[in-house]
Formats: sequence, C-alpha cells, structure tokens
Amino acid sequence: MSESLRIALIRGDGIGIDVADAAVAIIDRAMERIGLSPLAYEPILAGAGYFADTGKDIEPGGEIRAGDADAIFLGAIGLPSIRHADGTEISPHLRLRDRFGLYAGVRPVKAYPNAPQRLADPRAAAIDMVILRESTEGLFYSAAAHGRSRIIGDEEVHETLRITRSTTEKLHHFGFRLAQKRKARGKPGRLTCVDKANVFPAMAFFRRIFDEIAPAYPDVETGHQYVDAQALNLIRNPWDYDVMVMENMFGDILSDLAGGLVGGMGMAACAEIGDETGLFQPAHGSAPDIMGQDKANPLAAILSGALMLDYLAEKSGQTGLAEAASLIEDAVQAGFQQNRLRPMEFGSDMGTIAVTRELLTLLKD
Ligand code: ATP
Repeated sequence: MSESLRIALIRGDGIGIDVADAAVAIIDRAMERIGLSPLAYEPILAGAGYFADTGKDIEPGGEIRAGDADAIFLGAIGLPSIRHADGTEISPHLRLRDRFGLYAGVRPVKAYPNAPQRLADPRAAAIDMVILRESTEGLFYSAAAHGRSRIIGDEEVHETLRITRSTTEKLHHFGFRLAQKRKARGKPGRLTCVDKANVFPAMAFFRRIFDEIAPAYPDVETGHQYVDAQALNLIRNPWDYDVMVMENMFGDILSDLAGGLVGGMGMAACAEIGDETGLFQPAHGSAPDIMGQDKANPLAAILSGALMLDYLAEKSGQTGLAEAASLIEDAVQAGFQQNRLRPMEFGSDMGTIAVTRELLTLLKD
C-alpha cells in the first residue's frame, strides 16, 4: 500500500473548527468508499485563539510543517475581538499564501437545486462557473498585510498594482488547464480573460500574456471582457460563463458577487494553489456571530475538501482521489436535489452536525 498523503490541518477559530471537522469526516468517508488508505492529518495550532493564549499566531515550526505536507486544509482564522497592537486581525494564513506563492485562487460558483437563487430567470439554475483569482500580486501586492502602501502624512496614500510576467504566465496556463479539465467533464471549457486593458498598461500586459498563451490550447474557446462589463454580465447572463481569470482585486470582488448569486458564504469553496503546495479552505471567515451554536453551513469547507482531493489526485497520480472528490460533489448535488440537505444558513432546519450526518449517509447510499 502506498504511504498516506499528509495534510497539515489548521482548524483555526470560530466556526472554522466545526466546519474543518465536518470536512475531515466527509473526506474520510469518501476515501473509504473508494478503498483508499486514509489521509494522515497533522494538526497545526494557529489563529486568534492561539494568539490570545500564547502571543504567537501559529505554533513554533508550524509554517515549515505546513509547507512540508502534501496540502494544507484550513477552517477559518481570525476573531474581531482579538487583534495585534496595531489594530489588525490575526492572519497567519496570509503569510502562508505569500510564503508558498499560492497564486491560483480557484473559486467555484455553482447553483444547487432547492438552494436560494437570487435571479428570477430560470436559467440561473444552470450557473456553474469558476472564478480564477490571482492571489499573490495585483492590487493586493501593497495591501495592509504586506505593509507596502506609501502613506504620505494625512494627505495621500499610494498603492501599487503589480503584474509580473512569471506569475501571470503560470496563472493563465493554470486557467487553460482548468478549462480543459472542465471540458473533459462535459462542461463548456471556455476561458474568459477579465481585465481593464483599455485603461491600465498593467492590465494590457495581463491580457497580452493571455493572448500569447492561448494558441497553445486550441481546444479552449477564449473570450475577453472588461471587468465592469463582466460585473454587469454576472447579473445579466452568468450561465454563459465557464472559467474567468483575473487580477487579485477584481477576483476578490467578483467572487463575492458570484457567490451571492448561488446562496451565500456557506457554499463558497476555495483552493489556493502554488507550484509546490495548495491551501484549501472555505471562502468565509470564522463567523463569530454564530460560532458555538451548531448553525454554520459546513458545505463550503466540505466542497473545499473535494477540491483538495482533486489537487492531490493530480499531484500524486492516484486517480482514486479524483473519484473520491466526485463522490463528494455528487452527494452534495443529490442531497440538494432530494431536499435532504437543508442548511440553516438558507432559513431551513439543519445545523452543522445534521448536514454532516446526512451527507455521511448520502455517501453510504
Ligand atoms: P472574514 O473577514 O474573515 O472574511 P467576516 O466576519 O467578514 O470574516 P464571515 O465570517 O465570512 O465574514 O461571515 C460573514 C457572515 O456570513 C457571518 O457573520 C455569518 O453570519 C455568515 N456566514 C459565514 N459563513 C457561514 C457559514 N458557513 N454558515 C452560515 N453562515 C455563515
């Protein structure tokens, strides 16, 4: 039997702890169904709670151990009531993103039956797309976490938007391969480059690199869209989009908009992938308003777990892991279809434990 793949498990704070435990239970069940040996989880303490207890935001050696694992799974980090002396929140995960160069932020957006739909048009039921958000540079290059803003007294603040050829090439290749993978799974496999190339040279550069790379993927249909028009179209005809690749800040905004079209934060899965490792976490935070009440929707974390299995399948060459990922995705789809998954987040009756239990049953069926 091959050696178990190792997962650095950072449960974190608030509902992060509950949804991470739910994801682990579901992953274990899916692996067992396929007949794979279980993943080996290596817990790493980190977050606001840990900071309050110890004065450190991650346990000693935690960053190195996280990087040594085959992947990192994270619940959620940060509590507004616990902050550094300068007022910023505890966020060691942003350092992990930087340290491991996790440039490819993958955010699937999919409508499930019986989950809330914000658009009246019946075609909204067919929304199934991915926002690919560059996650290490762009306008976030100078964000507060990196301390690169230039603050001139109380009069002016300059931010830097950075686009590099090396990261952008990797990002676009990732986008094309993602579109190919989706095509192989019966989806359109189209890739849209979202930018503001008519105004910013940095964005024209982003688009030029996209156009340079496109001929290497003749099977992928491509398109271009300015970000303002893309925002409009995400409300007007989101069902026409498949994969959209964009700069960090644009991705930050449009992925929340897109997530809102298909329910809420409790469905928003996220993968952040670099050359050596990947970090998988729900896109939501620790939600202190509902922590400890068994109200959190664990599906964003669980679907992030499926993204991790897919990633590990490619990384390790064990195709069974991709089957385990599909099992989870199919079980979530069937659970909504049969009205057996009814998260409290959508005004229904099922808390974290009930959703997890029902999904475990669905995975047995
Ligand atoms: P961050 O800044 O870390 O993203 P935040 O406090 O701004 O965190 P979230 O924690 O993502 O935002 O959540 C915003 C609100 O959405 C929460 O207060 C909560 O009410 C709701 N929410 C988020 N995640 C979930 C979930 N998994 N299930 C149910 N409700 C959720």
